[in-house]
Amino acid sequence: MSAKQYKILLPEKELPQQWYNIQADLPAPLSPPLNPTTRQPAGPEDLSAIFPPALIEQEMSRQRWIDIPPAVLEIYALWRPTPLIRAYRLEQALGTPAKIYYKNESVSAAGSHKPNTAVPQAYYNKQAGIKRLSTETGAGQWGSALALACSYFGLECSVYMVKVSYQQKPYRRSLMEAWGAQVTASPSELTETGRKVLQENPASPGSLGIAISEAVEDAAGRSDTNYALGSVLNHVLLHQSIIGEECLKQFAMIDDYPDVVIGCCGGGSNFGGIAFPFLREKIQQDKATRLIAVEPSACPTLTRGTFTYDFGDVARFTPLMEMYTLGHDFVPPGIHAGGLRYHGESPLVSRVYHDGLIEARSYGQTSVFEAAITFSRTEGILPAPESAHAIRAAIDMALECKETGEAKSILFCLSGHGHFDLSAYESYLSGKMEDCNYPQDLIEQSIARLPKIG
Ligand SMILES: *Cc1c(COP(=O)(O)O)cnc(C)c1O
Repeated sequence: MSAKQYKILLPEKELPQQWYNIQADLPAPLSPPLNPTTRQPAGPEDLSAIFPPALIEQEMSRQRWIDIPPAVLEIYALWRPTPLIRAYRLEQALGTPAKIYYKNESVSAAGSHKPNTAVPQAYYNKQAGIKRLSTETGAGQWGSALALACSYFGLECSVYMVKVSYQQKPYRRSLMEAWGAQVTASPSELTETGRKVLQENPASPGSLGIAISEAVEDAAGRSDTNYALGSVLNHVLLHQSIIGEECLKQFAMIDDYPDVVIGCCGGGSNFGGIAFPFLREKIQQDKATRLIAVEPSACPTLTRGTFTYDFGDVARFTPLMEMYTLGHDFVPPGIHAGGLRYHGESPLVSRVYHDGLIEARSYGQTSVFEAAITFSRTEGILPAPESAHAIRAAIDMALECKETGEAKSILFCLSGHGHFDLSAYESYLSGKMEDCNYPQDLIEQSIARLPKIG
């Protein structure tokens, strides 16, 4: 009897030494970001108040491969390469002929894919002489990842945490504090933006857009402080490409190749990270790989938003970026997948979606949690609510294969574990969870307030 190979482990010496930059292979270059005041193309000087030179260079670079610095590789090696797992037990429970694989990004110390970019961001800021980083966090994963990365490099860390998550996830806050970060509920009294929002709506649950404004204001006001963003930007997706590059090597080891690659999509970083290396091969080698981004129906940026220039934050501090958006003042309902509550979408993911190179779909949270429970009762790992969106899509795809008899290979990104999301599971398991489909008229109202460009 031959033993099944559950775990595809890449030898540590095979850890990719370069990040992949999809900007080198886009059919047409991205539209430039615009200065929020002049509305002219933003140059490096527009970003230098809050980002170090190396990250600005990566943000604008069209070089295909970018070397990972040795000091970053050393820290990556603490948990990378991450395992690729064949989900035999899930396949069996579904009775599908499909092969389901997941890339387990939950094995980092912070429990998600986010340290893949937090570590290089902390490194490049340290190189530039910065002493302190400020940031926002939704569900708390990005704040924890940056707090962890800052502690690796001896930097201070100030985190503005979306208030609804601050209240729902007190343990995330303790985790960030254990790594030495200072955590503030957003909207807060510490910034101009926060005070203004609280004046208009003292009960505001907060949003990523508001928290970003607060963190940017903090960084712009202090010369020892820079800002770090956990998703959306080109350099973040660049760093996350390590996920897909490892997958390519792992699939080569077992002589298989995915027909479908799935990732949940908030700002687009874990999706871009796993999908773009496969998109390169799709573009260059004419492969038929389907790449699917999955979002919550309560914050349906790709599936119901508009492709246009918009601000990244509610206070309009950030450059205008061309992307799918629900409007920069859109405040999504307080669903449990806090990491997927952003109004916009990475310009890179937006562009390839607009060009028809990837697909998108959305799900309500009860069907997402149903999939999460199926996964945890077969594979054992309790997934983050965000990752469970990808699981829902993978299960649906595998069930379609059951109908058609096709033995497709399905790969999804398990972007994180759900050990800090137990109150969400409690809500689902006790039958209290509800779906919230965002009303079309509210989407239209916020889209009507978009800046008019061109
Ligand atoms: C932050 C987060 C997400 C969403 O962010 P992306 O940039 O879209 O990847 C998804 N899953 C987990 C576990 C996260 O922490």
